[in-house]
Amino acid sequence: MTKRYADVIIDISHEKVDRPFQYKIPEELSEAIFPGVRVHVPFGKGNTDRIGYVVDLSDCTDYPIEKLKSIAAVDDRGITVEGGQIQIAYWLKRQYGSTMYAALKTVLPAKQKLKQLEKKKVVRCMPSEMLREVQQQCFRKHQVAKARALGALAEEEVLPYELLRQKLNVSPATLQALEKLGCLRIETESLYRNPVKLTGREEKRVRLSDGQRAIIESVLEDYKEGRSGTYLVHGVTGSGKTEVYLGIIEQMVGMGKQAIVLIPEIALTYQTLLRFYKRFGDRVSVINSTLSKGEKYDQVRRAKSGEIDVIIGPRSALFTPFPNLGVIVMDEEHESSYKSESMPKYHARETAIQIASMHNASVVLGSATPSAEAYYRAKKGEYKLFEMAGRHGNSVLPKVYTVDLREELKQGNRSVFSRKLRELLERRLQAGEQTMLFLNRRGYAGFVSCRACGHVMKCPHCDVSLSEHRNGMLICHYCGYEEVRRANCPACGSKYLMGFKAGTEQIEAALYKEFPGVRVLRMDADTTGTKESYEKILSAFANEKADILVGTQMIVKGHDFPNVTLVGVLAADLSLNQNDYRAGERTFQLLTQAAGRAGRGDKPGEVVIQTYQPEHYSIVHAANQDYKGFYEEEIAYRDLMRYPPVAHMLAVLVVSREQDEGMALSREMTDIVKEWRRKSEVLAAGQDVQLIGPAEASVGRINDWYRHVFYVKHEDYQALVEIKDELELYCKGKELKNQSVQYDFDPVNTY
Ligand code: ADP
Ligand code: ZN
Ligand code: ZN
Repeated sequence: MTKRYADVIIDISHEKVDRPFQYKIPEELSEAIFPGVRVHVPFGKGNTDRIGYVVDLSDCTDYPIEKLKSIAAVDDRGITVEGGQIQIAYWLKRQYGSTMYAALKTVLPAKQKLKQLEKKKVVRCMPSEMLREVQQQCFRKHQVAKARALGALAEEEVLPYELLRQKLNVSPATLQALEKLGCLRIETESLYRNPVKLTGREEKRVRLSDGQRAIIESVLEDYKEGRSGTYLVHGVTGSGKTEVYLGIIEQMVGMGKQAIVLIPEIALTYQTLLRFYKRFGDRVSVINSTLSKGEKYDQVRRAKSGEIDVIIGPRSALFTPFPNLGVIVMDEEHESSYKSESMPKYHARETAIQIASMHNASVVLGSATPSAEAYYRAKKGEYKLFEMAGRHGNSVLPKVYTVDLREELKQGNRSVFSRKLRELLERRLQAGEQTMLFLNRRGYAGFVSCRACGHVMKCPHCDVSLSEHRNGMLICHYCGYEEVRRANCPACGSKYLMGFKAGTEQIEAALYKEFPGVRVLRMDADTTGTKESYEKILSAFANEKADILVGTQMIVKGHDFPNVTLVGVLAADLSLNQNDYRAGERTFQLLTQAAGRAGRGDKPGEVVIQTYQPEHYSIVHAANQDYKGFYEEEIAYRDLMRYPPVAHMLAVLVVSREQDEGMALSREMTDIVKEWRRKSEVLAAGQDVQLIGPAEASVGRINDWYRHVFYVKHEDYQALVEIKDELELYCKGKELKNQSVQYDFDPVNTY
C-alpha cells in the first residue's frame, strides 16, 4: 500500500526535534519516499526551497488537502547519517509502538551546548627572573596588561586562563602576544574526554586459546564475505569472552570500521574499561549515566566525525551514529536493563540486530547465562552459537550446597542463617577471608501485616504493600509515600502487627548479633543513592575493610573480589514467587551469577543456597551450574504456555484517572483484537491470536492512576505489530483524555 502523505522535519539539528510538516507525495515520487530520505520542499510563505527529512508516512491528513504542498524532489546525495537514524527511529516506532516523536528522541541525542567543554590554563615558559625583566620593559612601554600578566606568572608557574582573563582583565590578544614572545604557553585541558586517565598501553597480550581464535576468525570471515550475522558466545564468567570481543573489534578497527560495545551500566567496571583503553587508547569513549547531556552530545559528535572507533556504554550507546559501523558487541546479553522501560519499549538485542543489518555489521552477544530468547534463536540457527570452555586459568568452579530452610525450622533453627552457612561463615572469619551474602529483595522488612486479622498495611495511592524501614517508617517503593509505623492494627486494634523480616538491614543486624565483632558492609538501593556511594562501598570491600558484604542483586554483578571465598544466598526462592513467566529464568541467572562471585582468586570457593523450594528446576540446575539442563526445562515450560520466545506477547497497559474508564477502554481495545482475529485466517495450528484479559494490573494503581492490562500472544511478531497498529489508530480516533496506552512487546516486567 503506498502512502499519500509524508511528515517532513525541516531542521533536525535543532535544539529539540522540530515539529513535522505534512506534505503530499507526488505520484512519481511514491517509490522513492520513505522515512530517512532527504527531500526538497517548498517552505513558508515564499515557498523557499528547503531540505528536510521524511520521518513518517500516512494515509490520511488532518489538514484540508488543497492547502497541503507537495514534496518537490528527492535529494540525491543518498542516505545520510541522520537519515539512517531516522530510519531506526521509524523502525522503533513501528516495532514497539510509540509516537514518532518519542522514537526520534530516543535515537537522536539532545543537542546541548557543553558548559565547560575545556579548561584552559596558562603555563610559564621562562624562569621567573627573565619574566620580571620582560615585565620591566612592558612597564616602560606602558603595556600595563602585559605587565600584569607577567607579574602574576612570575609568582605562579601555572594559572587558570579564566583568572588572567577576568580577574586580571588581560585580553586574549595580549596573552597570544606573550605566547609568541615565548613567555608563556596556553594549554587546553579536556575535562572529561577520557573518563579513565591512562598512560601506557597493554604491556603484553594474552595468547588466545584455539577456541577464542576460532570464534574471532569465524565472525570476521563471515563479515568479509558479506555474510555478517548474529553470534552468541556462551561462556561462564572468566572464560575469556572479553578477550574475544577485543580481538574482533581490533580487526574491525584495522579495517577502518567502528564498534559499539554495550555493557549494562552496573557491570561497567573500572577493570573492564581499563582493558579497552589499554587496547585502543584515546580512540575509545564511554557513555554512562553520570555524563551530562552536553557531554553525551559531544561523544556523539566525536563518533560521527571519526575521532573515535569504539564506544562503550549501556543501552543508549546503541544509537551512536558511526559512519562505518562494523560490529555491535552486547555483553551480559540476558540483562533486563537492555529493555527500555519507557516508550518506545525497545529491546537492545533486536534493535542492535536491526541497526547492524543496515550497516552489514555483525552482532556479538555474550553471556554466562544466555536469555531463553537468545539461546532459542541460536538453537534454531538464527544466531551462530559458540560455547566457550570453562574458566580461564586455574580457578575452579565453586562447590555449591543447597539447604532446605523447612528442614532448618524443623530442627529448631530460627536464625536467618542455616547451620551450614553459619559453619562456613565462621571458618571464613577465622581464616580472614571474605563472604558475600545476597538477598534478592530490598529494604529492612517486607510487608507488615496483622497476625490477628490478616490486615496488610498498604499504600493509599498504589495497590502495593508498604515496606517497613528501621527508622520506624512504612514506605511505598512505587511512589515514595511514607507513614509512621503504628503499634496497633488499624483494622482490629490488636497489637500483633508484624513485619515480614527478611531485608538487608535485618540481615546486617543479625550478623552483628550472631557474630560479635564482625565487620559488615551493606549495599542496596537505600545505601547507594549515588554512584559515588556505590563505588565507595565496593572499594571498601575490595580493600578488605569488611569481612562480609550484604546486599541485593547489585552485589552479584561483574565485580571481582579475589578474597571472597564464600557466597551465601539467603532466600533463593524469593524471586520465584513473582507472578511473572520469567521468574524461573531470573532466579537461575541470579543464582548462577552469585555463585560465580565465589573463588575468583586462587582460593577455591563455596556457595550456600538457602531455599524453601530445593526441588525447583531453577535452583537444582543453578546449584549444578548446568545451563543446558535449565534451558531444556525452561523452554518446555515456555512452549507449553506459549510464552516468548516460543510465541510473542504484546502487553497493552491502559493508564487512567478513572477506574471505570480504564476498564471500558481496555474492553473496547480487546474487542478490536477479537475482530482482527475473526478477520485473519488461521493458517496453521499455533498460528492463532490468544487474548488474556483485560484485567486490573497486578499493581492496579500507582500514584492514583489506575492500571489495566491485557495480553495478546501470537507466533508471528508482525501479526502483533499489525494488531498494535489497529489499536493505535483506534485510540488516536478517540482523542483520549486522562488516559494513556502503553505497548510492551515481549515484556520483561509484569504489569
Ligand atoms: P569473561 O569476559 O568471559 O569474563 P575475560 O575475557 O575477562 O572473560 O577473561 C578472564 C580472565 O582470563 C582475564 O583476566 C583475561 O585476561 C584472562 N584470559 C582470557 N583469555 C586468556 C588467554 N587466552 N590466555 C591467558 N589469559 C586469558
Ligand atoms: Zn488486625
Ligand atoms: Zn504508593
